[in-house]
Amino acid sequence: MEVLANYIGGTWTKSKEENTVAVINPASQEVIGTVPLGSHTSADVASAVAAAAGAFAAWREVPVMKRVQPLYKLKQLLEANAEEIARTITLECGKTLAESRGEIQRAIENVEVACGMPVLMQSEFSENIAPGIDEFMIRQPLGVCACIAPFNFPGMIPFWFLPYAIACGNTFIIKPSEKVPLTMLKVFELIDQLDLPEGVINLVHGGKETVDALLEHPDVKAISFVGSTQIARYIYAKGAANGKRVQAQGGAKNPVVVLPDADLDISVKIITDSVFGCAGQRCLAASNIITVGDQGAIKDALYESAKSRTTGFGLDESVEMGPVITPDSRSRIEHLIDKGIQEGGRVLLDGRKPAISGFEQGNFIRPTILEGLPLDGEVIRTEIFGPVMSLIELGTVDEALTFINSGRYGNMACLFTSSGANARKFRSQAMAGNIGINIGVAAPMAQFPFSGWNESFFGDLHGQGRHAVEFFTQTKVVVERWPKEWSRKF
Ligand code: NAD
Repeated sequence: MEVLANYIGGTWTKSKEENTVAVINPASQEVIGTVPLGSHTSADVASAVAAAAGAFAAWREVPVMKRVQPLYKLKQLLEANAEEIARTITLECGKTLAESRGEIQRAIENVEVACGMPVLMQSEFSENIAPGIDEFMIRQPLGVCACIAPFNFPGMIPFWFLPYAIACGNTFIIKPSEKVPLTMLKVFELIDQLDLPEGVINLVHGGKETVDALLEHPDVKAISFVGSTQIARYIYAKGAANGKRVQAQGGAKNPVVVLPDADLDISVKIITDSVFGCAGQRCLAASNIITVGDQGAIKDALYESAKSRTTGFGLDESVEMGPVITPDSRSRIEHLIDKGIQEGGRVLLDGRKPAISGFEQGNFIRPTILEGLPLDGEVIRTEIFGPVMSLIELGTVDEALTFINSGRYGNMACLFTSSGANARKFRSQAMAGNIGINIGVAAPMAQFPFSGWNESFFGDLHGQGRHAVEFFTQTKVVVERWPKEWSRKF
């Protein structure tokens, strides 16, 4: 199978790396691609940075109204090719076709918001800060910026950064996850059709060595990372040590609280979608479901809803949940379920080792529900990143908030209730950057920042919307004096 090419300086380019790793369909274990992986990818990074740096001087001078024109075309191309991209996402990442289509829609929305850059980049002007003196601030691009993406949203996450970065006048490099590199390949076939100067957007494949080369290259000015907390922390530290601007989004362990006055049917449907959607491989997947008071009815309903979820190959439109990404990932999740049992938990619904007809080799786990886990145990505190729900019963909203706020992450917290006062208290006091009230996946729309807190985020400015504009620009403040005495008489 041909090794996937990089896209550097407007040309499809063979990697200088000879070692490769297979891209595998997680539902069937079929090899669907081959991607370069190894230390020689640093030479690919050097070429990509040289191309991006070479393009920067001219691109930053292109008026912003003109810089967004290729984004209008990209939106059209993404829409016209959405189905093909969605099928590629499902093939390499495992999620259902409906989930992949939704992902592309979210990518397109970021392109749409970035098209507003002529207004988003506008700045501040103060006339007469002193007699004859004006002061104003302008936003200027940084230079070469790079994005390092995770496996779970191969079509969407690069778009939290890419359209904003280039509309602000930067040039850009994307390093997709080596587990799912085919989606960006499809996207770059579209980028190749834009009237963009060579080197403005580049694609480099690889793993740790590629990332390290980006972090170490002096011409890379900013890094946008999304992935696990352990690697996010590493990227943040190493990027900062090398003088770069860094935004690093990490892992999560998201709680959802259900009060006795919540609408049972609506809550159950939304919560099971949140826990088991994308097979739990979402940084906004609900994981700990906290019921307040005695809620036997909701427990039974969650059990029935989880049990009836169809698991299988995502390209089959009737399937509601696909596999997890790798056999290692499946083993890790099964190990955490075992660990939960060792910790004293009970398995209410056991999805381990299912038989999926026709896909016996796939990395499948059916929906699983644990209950009775100790609140200070490992499983209830660890990101499982798989289709596992942990049920927790607590007595009051305050107890739920104390439990939530004692966690290390802070990506999302949700509440289901019909009480405005409790909702108001929760949204104010829950220590998480994305809050859902009667919502199960509180994913911010493109015009809002994706606001993780605590160990879910390292940095200051988040991805998307105005935060992205601030991240991808540096401010320059100008103080100008034009004394009246100098004015010529005409
Ligand atoms: P990961 O951290 O393993 O990999 C992410 C990227 O880092 C990949 O491109 C990979 O090649 C690179 N990488 C891996 N190991 C590296 C190393 N040692 N040094 C340098 N680079 C390295 O994450 P993943 O498994 O691809 O994605 C799942 C994780 O991402 C989950 O923890 C999930 O919560 C998180 N995530 C977070 C958000 C968010 O917005 N906070 C969104 C999506 C996913």
